[in-house]
Amino acid sequence: MTEPSIPFFSPRLFEEDRERALRLIHEIGTAPEQRFILGEFSARLERELADRLGAGQVVLCGSGTSALTMALAAVGVGAGDEVLVPALGCAPLAAAAVSLDAVPVFADVDPLTLTMDPEDAEARVTPRTRAVVPAHLFSVMADMPRFADLAKRRGLRLVEDSAVAQGAVLQGRPAGRWGEIGILSFVQVKSFGMPGEGGALVTDDDRLAELLRMFRNHGQRAGERFTHRMIGWNSRFDELQARFQLHRLAGLAGRLARRAAIADRYTERLAPLAERGVLVPPGGDEGRCAYVYTVLADNRDALSRYLQERGVATHVYYPRPLPRHAAFARHAPPGARWPRAERASARLVSLPLHPGLTDDQVDYVADRVTEFTARRPVSHPLARRSQMPEAPTP
Ligand SMILES: *Cc1c(COP(=O)(O)O)cnc(C)c1O
Repeated sequence: MTEPSIPFFSPRLFEEDRERALRLIHEIGTAPEQRFILGEFSARLERELADRLGAGQVVLCGSGTSALTMALAAVGVGAGDEVLVPALGCAPLAAAAVSLDAVPVFADVDPLTLTMDPEDAEARVTPRTRAVVPAHLFSVMADMPRFADLAKRRGLRLVEDSAVAQGAVLQGRPAGRWGEIGILSFVQVKSFGMPGEGGALVTDDDRLAELLRMFRNHGQRAGERFTHRMIGWNSRFDELQARFQLHRLAGLAGRLARRAAIADRYTERLAPLAERGVLVPPGGDEGRCAYVYTVLADNRDALSRYLQERGVATHVYYPRPLPRHAAFARHAPPGARWPRAERASARLVSLPLHPGLTDDQVDYVADRVTEFTARRPVSHPLARRSQMPEAPTP
């Protein structure tokens, strides 16, 4: 039997929309306005997304990273301000603050949800703390009610990194709407990814939205070209992408539902492995998004290799805590520790999760993980399959 190949990302990402994409490139390119950025389609996509989220405004921009940077600037983060960010996460969380000459202050994470721990974050508040940036990183939203409370009690600005959390809803409030500003990313790997870079800012505050619209286009107001009220960024949205995303919006709910069903199937199959060193993410659907399916495994590198050898691609997000990177080392106070972020980054591994996976493929992955945990602890990673015990029925 030949091994199946189960790639981590969908190999047919935009295949079904290819003809449509080619047609609309031609349409936009040959329209009389020849408008390739921030035109009618970007405006329409902003309205569609705002309606879906029940948000006052959505401001499209160049990327999730840029959204994060502009959001921090809009709430007044500047030189010397401290910004609380999770110690485990992607680089932009800390880099956005640094790019504004602010100081990222790393808080440890919850050992199960892997999102910033509100208690640990609060313990790191100082008179210089200006903002707190909880991020939904894997499949679980950060504890937004507690962060909202923390921000209110300690007078902090609340920016919500909801880059990956499209579709998640906590206490009836969608991800992106808990912060004064929430952000989204549409880079191809995200749940509403597209063939290129793009992001969005979500806010109910019209004044913040107006500022963000100026920020994204060199400090100009819409319709006031060459009048620069401030120094901004070039963080504009592409009309081709906006048009393509408007087209793909119709299928989004279905794709998110399929992702959630796959995550549930993994959980059903893998939850019984807790005693054998593989811990699944918290289940249910409250405050959950099926962006990635990340398990915590005792023997992570061996598990990754075992799966790789059997045709299953995995990814490690994120292999080390942010303050352990050279880029952010100067913001790691001497002797500071983030034990839960460190432990998690040594154990986490993400399994393939994209809407194109079949149930059989999901079961194949679950079977291999189950089989791995049933092995003798010391068996060599290259041990042949015939020597593996049969997978027990869960
Ligand atoms: C992807 C991501 C970003 C950055 O978005 P880009 O569009 O890639 O710049 C920020 N925060 C989180 C949590 C992300 O996963």
